[in-house]
Amino acid sequence: MTDCIFCKIARGDIPSKKIYEDDDLFAFHDINPVAPVHFMIIPKRHMASLYEAGDHPEILGKLFAKAGEIARSQGLADGFRTIVNTGRIGRQEVYHLHVHILGGPEPLGSMVPRNKA
Ligand code: 5GP
Ligand code: ZN
Repeated sequence: MTDCIFCKIARGDIPSKKIYEDDDLFAFHDINPVAPVHFMIIPKRHMASLYEAGDHPEILGKLFAKAGEIARSQGLADGFRTIVNTGRIGRQEVYHLHVHILGGPEPLGSMVPRNKA
């Protein structure tokens, strides 16, 4: 997609702090990190969200299969958190599927703050 910011990043048209690339995937640091290590892995092929990813199980499988290796390359040998925000309720901001990887060195906060009753 020509006007998609993450397609432009994957093509190198917009600069990013790249940490991994292969034929199908691109990984780069989040511009506004919320943890000491915060990067995203995206498919190079445009798919807007997890809702639209059903036709490409092989790419999603590869993305998750590679996540641990890429995380280790960033020093996350003691664990990490994986987040995929989807749609309005998931507070997705960029509509090109991306998997957030967040890590330490210390354990992260709670996954989602609990609402007060
Ligand atoms: P979402 O809320 O859609 O799951 O997260 C989108 C993420 O993309 C946000 O964490 C935001 O900081 C990041 N982001 C938005 N624009 C850019 C950009 O131009 N470059 C990089 N590296 N990250 C971006
Ligand atoms: Zn895109």
